[in-house]
Amino acid sequence: MEFDGRITIALSKGRIFKDTLPLLRHAGIVPVDDPETSRKLILDTNHPQIKLVIIRASDVPTYVQYGAADLGVAGKDVLLEHGGGGLYEPLDLEIAKCRLMVAGVKGAQLSNSRLRIATKFINSTRRHFAAQGKQVEIIKLYGSMELAPLVGLSDLIVDVVDTGNTLKANGLIPLEHISDISSRLVINKAAWKIKHNSITALVNALSVAVNERSTKGKNNG
Ligand code: AMP
Repeated sequence: MEFDGRITIALSKGRIFKDTLPLLRHAGIVPVDDPETSRKLILDTNHPQIKLVIIRASDVPTYVQYGAADLGVAGKDVLLEHGGGGLYEPLDLEIAKCRLMVAGVKGAQLSNSRLRIATKFINSTRRHFAAQGKQVEIIKLYGSMELAPLVGLSDLIVDVVDTGNTLKANGLIPLEHISDISSRLVINKAAWKIKHNSITALVNALSVAVNERSTKGKNNG
């Protein structure tokens, strides 16, 4: 693939990096360092024009919005919180799939007064309850949301759920589905204009990789 300028791709460590790697490899891009063992925040790839920056998942939309990275991979949960300004979201990578859910203690009697909801997904939570005409008090947490209803910090939580094992292990049950979540490719709007050929080629190659993987999955399943 020919590139008409330098391209920076923002990724977060862990699940997103692990699941994006095969898609990048399919597009001919292979990082030189492993972010799980390297302390470098800017990783070279086999392609001299392409670099990866390794940042927190919730910072990916911000780096791409401001053009510090041309492209990035971010969960839909993170994009719903960010709002998506300055970004194109052309491709669902169909990785890191989960559901954004309301959950609570099994059998708990919820009062009719203003419910307290603990979450890190403030905007999605506000929108969800506002759509039901409910005014709720939102308590911002940064992790371990499952603990909040167990110690009386909140009535309910809003969190991402995959297998449901974490909820179950803490005596919680899923109550309402807010949104299906998966990771999306996001692109800085100005960068796509300026580096149109390179970015379009990359999006197309990733799109082929996603389709091939999903066809393979269907044939194996
Ligand atoms: P599980 O027990 O499989 O339902 O996983 C739930 C826990 O893993 C929660 O604490 C979530 O914060 C986290 N989690 C599950 N899936 C994802 C995902 N796709 N992205 C980020 N966090 C996730």
